[in-house]
Amino acid sequence: MVLDNLGSSLRSSLDTLQGKSRLDEEDVEEIIKEIQRSLLSADVEVDLVMELSASIEERATGEEPPAGTSARDHVLRIVYEELVDLVGESTDLPLEPQTILLAGLQGSGKTTSAAKMAWWFSKKGLRPAVIQTDTFRPGAYDQAKEMCERAEVSFYGDPDEEDPVKIARDGLEETAEADVHIVDTAGRHALEDDLIAEIEEIEQAVDPDRSLLVLDAAIGQGAKEQAREFDDAIGIGGVVVTKLDGTAKGGGALTAVNETGSSIAFLGTGETVQDIERFEPNGFISRLLGMGDLKQLSERVERAMAETGDEDDDWEPEDIMEGSFTLKDMQKQMEAMNRMGPLDQVMDMIPGLGGGMMDELPDDAMDVTQDRMRAFDVIMDSMTDDELENPRSIGASRVRRIARGAGEEEETVRELLEQHKMMEQTIQQFQGMGEGDMQRMMKKLQN
Ligand code: GDP
Repeated sequence: MVLDNLGSSLRSSLDTLQGKSRLDEEDVEEIIKEIQRSLLSADVEVDLVMELSASIEERATGEEPPAGTSARDHVLRIVYEELVDLVGESTDLPLEPQTILLAGLQGSGKTTSAAKMAWWFSKKGLRPAVIQTDTFRPGAYDQAKEMCERAEVSFYGDPDEEDPVKIARDGLEETAEADVHIVDTAGRHALEDDLIAEIEEIEQAVDPDRSLLVLDAAIGQGAKEQAREFDDAIGIGGVVVTKLDGTAKGGGALTAVNETGSSIAFLGTGETVQDIERFEPNGFISRLLGMGDLKQLSERVERAMAETGDEDDDWEPEDIMEGSFTLKDMQKQMEAMNRMGPLDQVMDMIPGLGGGMMDELPDDAMDVTQDRMRAFDVIMDSMTDDELENPRSIGASRVRRIARGAGEEEETVRELLEQHKMMEQTIQQFQGMGEGDMQRMMKKLQN
């Protein structure tokens, strides 16, 4: 995740402030150095880093912590607010009919992002269509078509037509029934003049409501020139940062945002159509600082639960926050998580689990792969209600019976029970945070 190092190194230097009620100059200096180191290693431009650290320093030394606030919370709040300020607002994307043009270099993730965004709009109740005008890259047509099929959204492209401007025009006509049009364009290896001329022509032909620049999170300083060129040509109204799952950098995106005076619209976090998140500055920075991102989490849970479709079942994900965590909860949890995406990403969004706490858990605590989930599911189906509610009652002979019934190894049944125990411990740590912590966290996120 972007600026990942910042989150962990900052947390450890903030931890040295634990218990202090006042900050001395040395503390502030140490924290500022840590922030600068992390931002620079994440490829954030030097000028931006200096600007940010100067304002954090000024506020940390100049502002009195409000009564009852620890030095640690005071600094954390300032860093949080300044970082939110630095990344800026999220690009305004009204949920209404519109045309979006995507620009960027080859390989930046445009085609993938087009399909992901279309999927995202479709989940918001709109009818999107992707128009593929990339006639340059062999395979772009098939790739876009296939991804759109997977996302269950309309698609237009013409592998026999060479003129991208004509494809764009035809595409808008052919997909007139759609309300959000996402126009993908060709990227080249570098910023060649003919690419810029071509995208200007497409821009005039489709007259987009906004043009988004797609940037690979690993791009670094090269982002600046690219952002300027595209901004001059078509006017960049927002940035899509891709491949955040594969890098701890991402500073280039901040440079691009700064250069174009725009903002971040979406984050790409994987290769499938669902791996997209709307950029939310508050949640993004909270997650970065290990405060968790409740909003993203609840959105994912909601989506997953809607897809689970158990109307006659009154199980709620919130229930795991109260009472005991049974195998039934675990089964539901697995079903939902299966639909939410990789567990570590999900856990990262939970306040208190995102930061150091996860590191203290055994590595395999969250290692529930698809195959194991399937086996676990079959095993749980072979258990009685009583066993599901009281996993501790399952002794050796019951393990044998359950394994036989499920057609699985006894070892796998024991693994399931072990896994349940570990998850139960995790949940208990989470519950142990107490109401006060949770409410403070919620407040922080809402402000
Ligand atoms: P384009 O040339 O700009 O259209 O780029 P593509 O959409 O073809 O993406 C280039 C490569 O990056 C493909 O292999 C994609 O699967 C991959 N990719 C795109 N977005 C992401 C992302 O968010 N995460 C990961 N891991 N891979 C991505």
